[in-house]
Amino acid sequence: MPEIYDVVVIGAGVVGTAVARLLSHQHLEVALLDAGPDIGAGTSKANTAILHTGFDATPGSIESRLVARGYALLNDYAPTAGIAIEPIGALLVAWDDEQAASLNTSAEKAVANGYLGASLIDAQSVYELEPQLASGARGAMVVPDEFIIDPWSTPLAFAKEAIANGVAWLPNHSVTKLDRSHDITVISTAEQHTLRARCVVNAAGLHSDDVHALFGLTGFTVRPRRGELIVFDKLARSLLAHTILPVPTSHTKGVLVAPTVFGNVMLGPTADDIDDKTATSSTRAGIDALLAKGQRILPALLHEEVTAVYAGLRAATQHSDYQISHDPTLGYVCLGGIRSTGLTASMALAEETLALLQQCGLVATPKAPDELRSIRVTNLGEAFERPYQRGSSGAIVCHCERTTRDEIVEACTVAPAATTLDGIRRRTRALSGRCQGFYCSAEVCALAANASGKPMTDWLGNQ
Ligand SMILES: Cc1cc2nc3c(=O)[nH]c(=O)nc-3n(C[C@H](O)[C@H](O)[C@H](O)COP(=O)(O)OP(=O)(O)OC[C@H]3O[C@@H](n4cnc5c(N)ncnc54)[C@H](O)[C@@H]3O)c2cc1C
Repeated sequence: MPEIYDVVVIGAGVVGTAVARLLSHQHLEVALLDAGPDIGAGTSKANTAILHTGFDATPGSIESRLVARGYALLNDYAPTAGIAIEPIGALLVAWDDEQAASLNTSAEKAVANGYLGASLIDAQSVYELEPQLASGARGAMVVPDEFIIDPWSTPLAFAKEAIANGVAWLPNHSVTKLDRSHDITVISTAEQHTLRARCVVNAAGLHSDDVHALFGLTGFTVRPRRGELIVFDKLARSLLAHTILPVPTSHTKGVLVAPTVFGNVMLGPTADDIDDKTATSSTRAGIDALLAKGQRILPALLHEEVTAVYAGLRAATQHSDYQISHDPTLGYVCLGGIRSTGLTASMALAEETLALLQQCGLVATPKAPDELRSIRVTNLGEAFERPYQRGSSGAIVCHCERTTRDEIVEACTVAPAATTLDGIRRRTRALSGRCQGFYCSAEVCALAANASGKPMTDWLGNQ
């Protein structure tokens, strides 16, 4: 551990890991820390996994600019790192006259956001593209570049690359105090660690306002907007070819039906403003509301089996845009209020952060190409070859998701290694299929215990 880090990034979600990755391309001493034991285990593990074009952003907003840039960057990066991405496109479907009339406005907004790929189609064309849709569609806007992506492997790839290029990964570091003096910030954690840094990046998601307040700063308050989702069985996948989007409102993008790169179909999310930053449980009311919406969009979906339900919390604030700021005297960059589009914008947020750190006086000298190590993550996407198909990765352990022995061993041993069953799930898909681990969790635990040297009880008790 260096005596003084050049930069400490607080929060290892998709945003913090993207920042750490880009900083690892510079000659800098960098640490990435998180309050929890793993990367990508906050909001970043529970979203709808759309790579947004930004067609519906508020024109001129920071979000509009960074989503468009982030889309281009992540679309290029994903195939090089092994992150599954499928170019399926989306239909923004109008279900009544008012929505049909607003499609023109949506098309103009897309252009104002710099997205020129959208086109309007009539009802007949909608049913030619999606014959299983409920009756009553009045027309749609086709957004061919709205893609689906693997949300779990994205922060994993960023973190893996950051670590391979020298970033220190510090799990279980919950920042409770930031003291600035003589151009150095002393960072204290609840676990009694002390670190020193020239610059600090706040990528603390739902707690970005709390970390901001540790410097005595105000300006935004995070009020979580809970989004509940239902994941349907893979047999539902043939019901639709595109993501089906609703006409968005100012409050939410609305409930969508989307295929996932893992081969399932997802229905959601809801949008409920709540006060509890830990309230990620699904609710009866939320699930009922989703099923009613699903019935109106794709009735056949409701005959399919449900594999899982989950909820994620958007870091919404009283403002409608991201809360990005920097303070050169504090050597501080804040990436607050990254609510509904942070997966897409993550790599652009990293570029923005580097520029703001330089405005804070950070001297960042890029590493030469031969000094940089590239990485790949194991493909989890159904559309691409998975390890079991190569037959050289050991026996299949999770038969629902066809995860092999070697994948589980790798998940527990390659940095940033999983230390929980949830971490193994997000790295391999094991335990996330039809049986939700009923048949394979004992074997997964045994393999994890053997590979990691930690007792099996640690894995069982640490879901
Ligand atoms: C239902 C839903 C659907 C969404 N759909 C999409 C989508 O389709 N496409 C898209 O692009 N985006 C989508 N998003 C948004 C996207 O998921 C988020 O914008 C993104 O995950 C935010 O990442 P983050 O790194 O800022 O936050 P997080 O992933 O929450 O990471 C923040 C991290 O900071 C850590 N932390 C907090 N406080 C401290 C502290 N004091 N000390 C140390 N660590 C701390 C936390 O433990 C956490 O790991 C969706 C979000 C939701 C909820």
